[in-house]
Amino acid sequence: MPYENEFAHYKPIKRITESVQVQALLKRARVKPDSPESISLDMVALTQLKPSDWTPDFVLAIDGSMDEERVKNGYPSAAIGYVTVASVLLDVAKMMRLDAHRPVDPKEFRTIENAESIDGALPGCNVVIDEELSAVHSFRRALFELFQCRQMSESEKCESVLDTYQALLKYKPINDNSPQRCPYEDCLQLDQSYQRGQDEYICSCAHARSLFSTDALRIHEFMKPEGSNQSMLTETMNVLERIWMVHFLRTLEQEKLLPVLQRLAIVMDGPLAVFGAPAWLSSAIKSELSRINDVAKQAVADDKFDLLLFGVEKTGAFMEHLTELDKGPNGEHDTLPRQSAMLLTDDYIKQRIIFSNSEREYGRNTYFGRKAFYKTTSGALIVLNSPLLNEDHGDLKRAEYTQFPRLADIMSLLDTLVSARYRNSVTPLISAHAEAAIPMNLGKRVLEKLARQLMSETSKKKA
Ligand SMILES: [Zn+2]
Repeated sequence: MPYENEFAHYKPIKRITESVQVQALLKRARVKPDSPESISLDMVALTQLKPSDWTPDFVLAIDGSMDEERVKNGYPSAAIGYVTVASVLLDVAKMMRLDAHRPVDPKEFRTIENAESIDGALPGCNVVIDEELSAVHSFRRALFELFQCRQMSESEKCESVLDTYQALLKYKPINDNSPQRCPYEDCLQLDQSYQRGQDEYICSCAHARSLFSTDALRIHEFMKPEGSNQSMLTETMNVLERIWMVHFLRTLEQEKLLPVLQRLAIVMDGPLAVFGAPAWLSSAIKSELSRINDVAKQAVADDKFDLLLFGVEKTGAFMEHLTELDKGPNGEHDTLPRQSAMLLTDDYIKQRIIFSNSEREYGRNTYFGRKAFYKTTSGALIVLNSPLLNEDHGDLKRAEYTQFPRLADIMSLLDTLVSARYRNSVTPLISAHAEAAIPMNLGKRVLEKLARQLMSETSKKKA
């Protein structure tokens, strides 16, 4: 606490924008040309595609949350992070039946969801575990152990989250343009470079200290030893959400359950992207999704099949832009046609949304998906991310609906799912978020059970 009147001789901070330096910077910042047609509809590739009449039996929604809490261990600012990734499996048919009989009894509504979450505690500032050297090294070990001991299926033939991660790690180029250093500052190797490996292994220098495959994520490099680590925890959560999605798909493959994807949709919270130090994961996930999609085509004996997966962004520049678009040039609302998808090209994004003169395509190194807007039948505005399952999907110079796998089905699903209670949001994501906020360890392997149920129904239908 400051002493009374200690700061009294300072004037209250002026509004930032009045500051001379801010004004000088703003004078140098380029301004978007303010022409009325600058936001006109014909600039957007409004696809003629109409929603299909397809609805899945189940929707899997994946959503994470994180929190950081101060702990008492005698050291100042000591904190522990908590990361949760919830998966909610929503029974769509049951939901639609309930929806027809409004108002829905919340208790009844709960029965259409089956939740499972993975969660873990991670050392933050001034928390040092076991014999580790510091909080950073404690975080590295705890992150590795979190990956190591989480697994969707109890079956022995199925892999852990660590195995999934290590399968993705194989896609990472050995020589990328930002070489990684050994996590130990006093490593005795000449170049102090990080040696990539599997599981837990030993640095080859005389200190012979532990290294982990998960060190290649480089999340620990951004740990702040003297304060809050919210941004590092957010990064951990985003990575875990996306690896969990791949883990789910690989588990289905290992259990020979890929045909359930014909009746299942997967919805992720946020963009289909990985930012920051672990951004290399995005191209690994892109390659792996493409591989799984090919295997799924074979499993269902249908060349035209694509898995139905998309991300939903609730906030950010794209959402803000879409809201503006819907306002129209004269500020009126609801101008966009309902049940229409707008497909975004690189040019459109750079001119209208994320200002850039770069030659490199938007999101080249961070996205394994691309964006489209959709306005549902109820008028809700959705920023969706559709996965890049082949090279053509990723050509951002063009925006054609064939580059957005299962788009008509996604549109139809969004019409069904968008919550009346929460505008511009999607019901299962709301549920996933609620689950994520209350850590649950049901350990019931719900997903696996439902997948088995789906499989038995599929084989019954075939018979
Ligand atoms: Zn070393």
